[in-house]
Amino acid sequence: MTKETKTYHIGDAAITRIDELSLAAFQFGTLYPGGDPRALERHQGRLEAGSFDPATGTFIQSIHSWLVRTPQHTILIDTATGNDKNRPDMPPLDRLNEPFLARLAAAGVAPEEVDHVLLTHVHADHVGWNTRLVDGRWRPTFPNATYIFSRVEQAYGESLAKGAEPTGAARPDPALGPALRKPADRVYDDSVRPVIEAGLARFIAVDGSEVLEGISFIPTPGHSVDHASIRLVSRGEQGLFAGDVMHHPLQVYEPLLNSCFCEFPEAALRSRNFVLEDAAESGATVFTTHFAQSSVGRIKRTGGRFAWRFL
Ligand SMILES: [Zn+2]
Repeated sequence: MTKETKTYHIGDAAITRIDELSLAAFQFGTLYPGGDPRALERHQGRLEAGSFDPATGTFIQSIHSWLVRTPQHTILIDTATGNDKNRPDMPPLDRLNEPFLARLAAAGVAPEEVDHVLLTHVHADHVGWNTRLVDGRWRPTFPNATYIFSRVEQAYGESLAKGAEPTGAARPDPALGPALRKPADRVYDDSVRPVIEAGLARFIAVDGSEVLEGISFIPTPGHSVDHASIRLVSRGEQGLFAGDVMHHPLQVYEPLLNSCFCEFPEAALRSRNFVLEDAAESGATVFTTHFAQSSVGRIKRTGGRFAWRFL
């Protein structure tokens, strides 16, 4: 891949995208089941050619990680899908063989140099490179890293992987509203449990407190049981890694659209509005996980609505 990769700066932190996949998999009705198709008609003119193919009506999306280098740390935020993962229910993600680690190397980072992996949530396309297949076993890809993620996501994933009804710490907060779906099978077993068993996991409460210098996990639940957006503050500048609060720029213009992957639709909607308000207010640089093009932009408020501008 010869695509030019830009490095962004938030204060002392340098942020580079590490690509895994480019997707042109979904039309409106598939990505936003039950959404009003007029939402697309209203805003199609605002969607750039790199984000939407008008000839086929297909959204163009990305799956990638964010490499964050600070003076102290080498951090990956989310770890994409991973190679060799058995995902028969998700054909575009099934048994990939992508040069993700070569792209990380091209950015100047060997797996051993990553000291923290921060996960917005435990879904197939965000935790996959946590592990890789070595001699038939799933081993941590980043052996010197601490993997930081929500205790609730861990407990929920563990209990579903065991086929148990989530109780105690694993029980979803009733305030999330009803769950429309559950995380995909196998993901916890092949991509999360091995890093816990290797002693590399640090479970946190997603409550906005600092987990590393200038970095905090902001509660934005709904897409998953305890989905977090990750805020990075350095020298007065702010970046927001919004995970799957949105899957495409269309949702900036039409925040009522929930994707087909959102588990708790009522909470997902509230969290999307929270992030749009927060990012418009703060002027944060927003780093998305599934927008195509640069995946990076700013949110502005215009006449009672929000607008997206790629950076
Ligand atoms: Zn995702």
